Amino acid sequence: NHVEMEKIVSLSRRRGFVFQSSEIYGPPGGCWDYGPLGVLLKNNVKQAWWQSMVQERDDVVGVDASILMNPKVWEASGHVTGFSDPMQDCMVCKMRWRPGDFEGTVCPACGGKLTEPRQFNLMFKTFMGPLEDTASVVYLRPETAQGIFTNFDNVLNTQRKKLPFGIGQIGKSFRNEITTGNFIFRSREFEQMELEYFVKPGTDEDWHAHWLKTRLEWYVSLGMKKEHLQMRDHCKEELAHYAKACADIQYLFPMGWSELEGIANRQDFDLKQHSKFSGKNLEYFDEETKERFTPYVIEPSAGVDRSVLAFMLDAYTEEPDKDEIRTVLKLHPRLAPYKAAILPLSKKEPLTTLAKEIYASLRKAWMVTYDEAQSIGRRYRRQDEIGTPYCITVDFDSLNDKMVTVRDRDTMTQDRIPIDEIKAYLFPRLKR
Ligand code: ATP
Repeated sequence: NHVEMEKIVSLSRRRGFVFQSSEIYGPPGGCWDYGPLGVLLKNNVKQAWWQSMVQERDDVVGVDASILMNPKVWEASGHVTGFSDPMQDCMVCKMRWRPGDFEGTVCPACGGKLTEPRQFNLMFKTFMGPLEDTASVVYLRPETAQGIFTNFDNVLNTQRKKLPFGIGQIGKSFRNEITTGNFIFRSREFEQMELEYFVKPGTDEDWHAHWLKTRLEWYVSLGMKKEHLQMRDHCKEELAHYAKACADIQYLFPMGWSELEGIANRQDFDLKQHSKFSGKNLEYFDEETKERFTPYVIEPSAGVDRSVLAFMLDAYTEEPDKDEIRTVLKLHPRLAPYKAAILPLSKKEPLTTLAKEIYASLRKAWMVTYDEAQSIGRRYRRQDEIGTPYCITVDFDSLNDKMVTVRDRDTMTQDRIPIDEIKAYLFPRLKR
């Protein structure tokens, strides 16, 4: 590998995938807006996760918990005291750095002397209610997981689930990162897709192995190249004190192997802490053995934005086409923002009427687009670059033979098919 980050940043901006937040005022740094194409891609990534983690499993249900929680949650979870990164200031240019993010012992920007590292809490604080005093401090959640643990009992009581079972959630998280960068890889507001999978102690190691394998396969099933993915075990020194094991799924980003997702065996730490701090018993009663115990939990925790970035990088291709270079975003059809583009060969009637009829019929089933501006060659290029798997061209013959030409993005081969059969033609190809 690999594709330069700049290519993806520029494509994102040019075609409307990702913009800087509040750009017209000057971006605040570490915040991004998804544009018309980006929101579709991002929703497709989340949908694919939800389908594999919730929809297609008997043993997992979903929740959507609030971002603001009782601040005691963050005392129980350890975030108030422990969720911090070391920070160093440059005494010359005043830039702030996170040791480990750079090599050497001087400021990477100006070569100035750095202060000793000091701890910096990454949670965003705000106030709930009209009084801005310490009693009204609340936090923006730095992870979605705690909204799952605090609902453990609610889910258990309402869903009749037996161990092992899981609760999944997708949502925004906020971290006041000291340094952001690498486009949407590290930002201050981002989305996570998290599963807390509760198991009987003793079965936790097998389940940890199960989730490592399942999660790695998910990326591959959506077209990510195997050779761009690897598993990295955390060594003893890196492990949080409550974790028995943790492994990261890493992707070969332009800046090197970096974390896409972390999969941890958190044992009974979270439920025990919440029992202790809330006074609510969060034990599980096993009907068969008549035993009462606190379940262990396996946590696959993935970043939506990092996945979007990795899928884009992985799909980005430049290939020679006659004497030009063709840029193609070879996204898996399930992730592609538009599944098809309907293109009348010319802007003339009655071609456009027929093309618009086809468009109106297909958009009820899929996100599709319609484009009649510029030459057909340029329109194909445009669709290639945003990853549209199929272009459906309506030409003058279509008026008589009621057929259209369907062009495949990757092979550029063309099939002539009856208009009545477009849906049947696309259906198996889009689901693959
Ligand atoms: P890192 O070491 O890269 O800061 P982390 O180990 O702190 O990440 P976790 O707390 O394990 O991350 O969060 C789970 C997932 O959430 C990460 O694998 C990543 O995909 C995503 N994530 C975490 N922090 C950010 C961020 N600042 N911006 C974008 N995604 C993030």
